Amino acid sequence: MKCDTIRKHLSAWQDGELTPGMRRNVSTHLDQCSDCRLELTAIEQLTANLHKIPPPPISPGFPARVMARIVPQPQRRTGWLPAFAYAALFLLIFGLGLVITPRKAAPFQPESIIKISLTEALLDAQNAQLASVQDGIIDLFKEDVP
Ligand SMILES: [Zn+2]
Repeated sequence: MKCDTIRKHLSAWQDGELTPGMRRNVSTHLDQCSDCRLELTAIEQLTANLHKIPPPPISPGFPARVMARIVPQPQRRTGWLPAFAYAALFLLIFGLGLVITPRKAAPFQPESIIKISLTEALLDAQNAQLASVQDGIIDLFKEDVP
C-alpha cells in the first residue's frame, strides 16, 4: 500500500479500530517504511500531549443549569388509530391487488380442439369432388331421358 493510504489509517491503527486485514497491512508497511513510522511516532506524541491537558474546570452551578434547561417533552398518545390506519391501508392494498390481478384463463381442454388429420381432410375433399362429379353425370343422364 502507498504511504498516503497508510497514513490515513494510522490514527485508527493506534486506536485499534482497523479490521484484522488492514491492521496487518499497516503493520507490514510500518516495518518497511521509516517515514510512516515517524508519522506514527508524531501521532503518538500528539495524543500523549493531548491527554496531559487537564479538562477545564466546571463551574459549581453548571450541572443545575443544564438540568434546568432540559424540558420534558409531553408524550404523544397514539392509541389505536395508527393500528386501524395500518389495517385499513393493508386491506385497501390487498383489495386493489385482487381487483387489478388478471383472472386466470380457463384451463386448457384438449377436447375443445377439433381433431382432424390431413388424411381425413383430403379424403373429405375427394369425396366431395366425387359426389359433385357423380351428380353431374346423373344430371347428364336425366337430360337424355325424355
Ligand atoms: Zn510509508
